[in-house]
Amino acid sequence: MALGSSRRTVLVTGAAGFIGSHLVDRLLAENFEVVGIDSLLTGDLTNLTSANRDPHFHFQMGDVREPLNVHAEVIFNMACPASPVHYQHDPYATLTTSVVGAQRLIDQARGMRSTIVQASTSEVYGDPTIHPQPETYWGNVNPIGPRACYDEGKRAAETLLVDAKRAWGIDTRIVRIFNTYGPRMAFNDGRVVSNFIAQALTNQPITLYGDGRQSRSFCYVDDLVEGLLRVAMLPTLDGPLNLGNPQEFTMVELADTILSLVDSASELMYLPLPVDDPRVRRPDITKAKDVIQFEPAVELREGLSRTIENFRSRLAL
Ligand code: NAD
Ligand code: UDP
Repeated sequence: MALGSSRRTVLVTGAAGFIGSHLVDRLLAENFEVVGIDSLLTGDLTNLTSANRDPHFHFQMGDVREPLNVHAEVIFNMACPASPVHYQHDPYATLTTSVVGAQRLIDQARGMRSTIVQASTSEVYGDPTIHPQPETYWGNVNPIGPRACYDEGKRAAETLLVDAKRAWGIDTRIVRIFNTYGPRMAFNDGRVVSNFIAQALTNQPITLYGDGRQSRSFCYVDDLVEGLLRVAMLPTLDGPLNLGNPQEFTMVELADTILSLVDSASELMYLPLPVDDPRVRRPDITKAKDVIQFEPAVELREGLSRTIENFRSRLAL
């Protein structure tokens, strides 16, 4: 895929979601013809307000578990609820979206020689026993726990995509995305960044789960989208690739940072830790640096400030 050439068609599934909509905007800015598909399970059409004004964007309401018929050079498969609250709400839908969705896209790509870029996840590493996590780590996932519908669904999708490459030579590329945040995250998303920002802005208690000392590494969405594009532009990609920002923070540190950026009366409120909540998470991005010269540019405070401004305007504060 060469950027800036005559318009080539790219399909983005999960286009109305948080990451999907940012990816759509970037692809349009790079002069692609973009088809977006979304079931609106967790996505929101307002995320596509700007894209919908562009004649080169075409939205289709649809489910990736149904047969698709879009002629696209590249397919970015972003469709899947990503927040633990949402993906556990209907575990069957989550698992089948990952597995049946991957199967449908492989069927489609097989006939059309498309490249598939799959949004996999750091959750394939589960509650990791190796830290930070390199792509060579096989993970520590509970296959029957409440997170399994997501973790195992994404793992099985990876298996399908790798086998499609082995068996039929389909160009499938797997990106393991680590915690990504930014403008357009849904208020009711349930993830930590959106929860803490919405709580701080509305002077509600900041809900810290467990002792708040579990860690995550947060990547600003523009950095992630840059990485996704670079992956699609490669001539080929062997094996999965971690994408994320390796700077690691505890949830208490995240809460303190957000409170230092928002003039808020919120106080910390400790709640039970969810089952199977990983204690630590941090990407080893050695491979991404090597293969696509990936270098996250947006520091946490800067990315949070931009996200807070976006939440403030949407909340009309
Ligand atoms: P999101 O919930 O905002 O977006 C997911 C989109 O997929 C939504 O618009 C939703 O309506 C759509 N969708 C869900 N099921 C569908 C189906 N069966 N058919 C069609 N559309 C469907 O989440 P996000 O944070 O934007 O995540 C996008 C992708 O990136 C997901 O695949 C997720 O697993 C992956 N990912 C995200 C993160 C992160 O931190 N944001 C981390 C790891 C992986
Ligand atoms: N978390 C929290 N308070 C919240 C939401 C989440 O303390 O209101 C914690 C959660 O227990 C986890 C971390 O923040 O340890 C990240 O959670 P999130 O749901 O954002 O994503 P995960 O990385 O667990 O998929």
